[in-house]
Amino acid sequence: SEERSLNFLEEIIEEDIRNGKNDGRVHTRFPPEPNGYLHIGHAKSICLNFGLAQKYNGQTNLRFDDTNPEKEETEYVESIKEDVKWLGFEWQNELYASDYFSQLYDFAVMLIRKGKAYVDDSTPDQIAEQKGTPTEPGTPSPWRDRSVEENLLLFAEMRDGKYQDGEKVLRAKIDLASPNMHMRDPIMYRIRHAHHHRTGDAWCIYPMYDFAHGQSDSIEKITHSVCTLEFIPHRALYDWFIEELEIFPSRQYEFARLNMTYTVMSKRRLLQLVNEGFVNGWDDPRMPTISALRRRGYTSASIRDFCDRIGVAKRENIIDVSLLEFCVREDLNKTAWRRMAVLDPLKLVITNYPEDQEEIFVGENNPEAEDGEGSREIPFSRELWIEREDFMENPTKKYFRLGPGLMVRLKHAYIIKCDDFVKNEQGDITEVHCSYIPESKSGNDTSAIKVKGTIHWVSTRHAAQVEVRLYDRLFKVEDPGAEGRDFREYVNPESLQVIPSAYIEPDLASAVPGKGYQFIRKGYFTLDKESAPGQLVFNRTVTLKDTWAK
Ligand code: ATP
Ligand code: MG
Ligand code: MG
Repeated sequence: SEERSLNFLEEIIEEDIRNGKNDGRVHTRFPPEPNGYLHIGHAKSICLNFGLAQKYNGQTNLRFDDTNPEKEETEYVESIKEDVKWLGFEWQNELYASDYFSQLYDFAVMLIRKGKAYVDDSTPDQIAEQKGTPTEPGTPSPWRDRSVEENLLLFAEMRDGKYQDGEKVLRAKIDLASPNMHMRDPIMYRIRHAHHHRTGDAWCIYPMYDFAHGQSDSIEKITHSVCTLEFIPHRALYDWFIEELEIFPSRQYEFARLNMTYTVMSKRRLLQLVNEGFVNGWDDPRMPTISALRRRGYTSASIRDFCDRIGVAKRENIIDVSLLEFCVREDLNKTAWRRMAVLDPLKLVITNYPEDQEEIFVGENNPEAEDGEGSREIPFSRELWIEREDFMENPTKKYFRLGPGLMVRLKHAYIIKCDDFVKNEQGDITEVHCSYIPESKSGNDTSAIKVKGTIHWVSTRHAAQVEVRLYDRLFKVEDPGAEGRDFREYVNPESLQVIPSAYIEPDLASAVPGKGYQFIRKGYFTLDKESAPGQLVFNRTVTLKDTWAK
């Protein structure tokens, strides 16, 4: 990639290395909660965390932040691992916050012993009340001054299942007058009699994010714990726990989360789109999830490139989704194999080409690659499918395709001249009749005829019929998730267009999912996972040019 200046995290890390902090070691982590599929925002975090470690010869842990038993599932764990691997990264250790439940419990006991944590019987509403407001200090809970012995006993009883959900919590005893609301005796543990995807029913108390995350970082000796800006006010608490527990001093750094136009990007909202039937699952190709982008034909290289180009910001911003589309176009232009497919078929008959004759033309797979990456055979015969839009009954002046008397080149084949056409009773054109110029064969053209247009085609006798799915933006407005909006009201009803019968050249019958194809003049496509032998489905990844009306 091109030379660029250091981002602020690289500057911090280089400074730390110069100062010999952590013996120059760089250890990051990517900490997803397994409560949904990863989206393009997570890709940003993955590329950042793994990228920093790669750049400074460090390591990255994959840590599942699984402290909310009700929302977490093994299905999500599996999909997250698959997505990180597909993006091209290898983690050092596969870890789970739930593996630390015993240790976190012991940490909590240590804080109780130091007089820095207490069991509170207040209700959630009372606790909210006790916190005060940003301008007014909080008020102590009546249980704030319980003795260490009583707290130890009650906390053990909480763990042992003696109390119902919500009956008691464990709170840190910090500062009810702190200007930082997170420091006003935050909750460390709550009671949840819920089944956990890994620990089963072993626990009925679960640590809060703030008591789990920093301690997990510390246990793993993470040096640079990178998270998004909304965690800035949590940092004081992150540091407080580490200092009070006298454990490895991991440090938290914050960057701006990725937001993208025409998209919503929180797992909660994406789950709503799935559950309420706006899309057909987490990997519906219109979704911003990694699995959807993969299914749609995005390459991992294009997503990494995108994450690199948007850089690392310290302030919230919103990235134009066209940049993501630009990145995949750039990559597919270099890697996709060229093929011919007709999406809106119209029959073309070459009247001077014998009925029983066939020819095989040879087309390079990838003209952008130095060696062309091999070639494929393209059969030709008297009857072809062409795009309906490549014929006009009354062509306009600059129309360089087919119309009465007009000539055009058939890609990889001959120059043809349009002599006639057939209309049905409804006035629709059903056939175009042409004659071909035998001396104009591609690569061996002695006809001296110059034509301005080249069109794609497939031989009707050899073509396979397939379904093609074209996608538009899932939302009609740039910022469907803006405050005061219900994003569901802005779903684009035309985001999916299904073409039930398009025709492909025969070589495409052996397409595989994930391989990118440029359907000449039509865009980039890949085979969808819902394909079956003889019933192929192609997704359009992206158009050839940015056709979005601004
Ligand atoms: P969501 O709101 O989508 O559920 P989250 O932050 O709760 O997001 P996590 O599973 O906790 O999801 O995220 C794992 C990591 O990915 C965190 O470090 C988080 O900060 C980061 N991350 C999540 N969303 C984005 C985003 N849009 N841009 C950059 N990083 C993100
Ligand atoms: Mg979340
Ligand atoms: Mg989170």
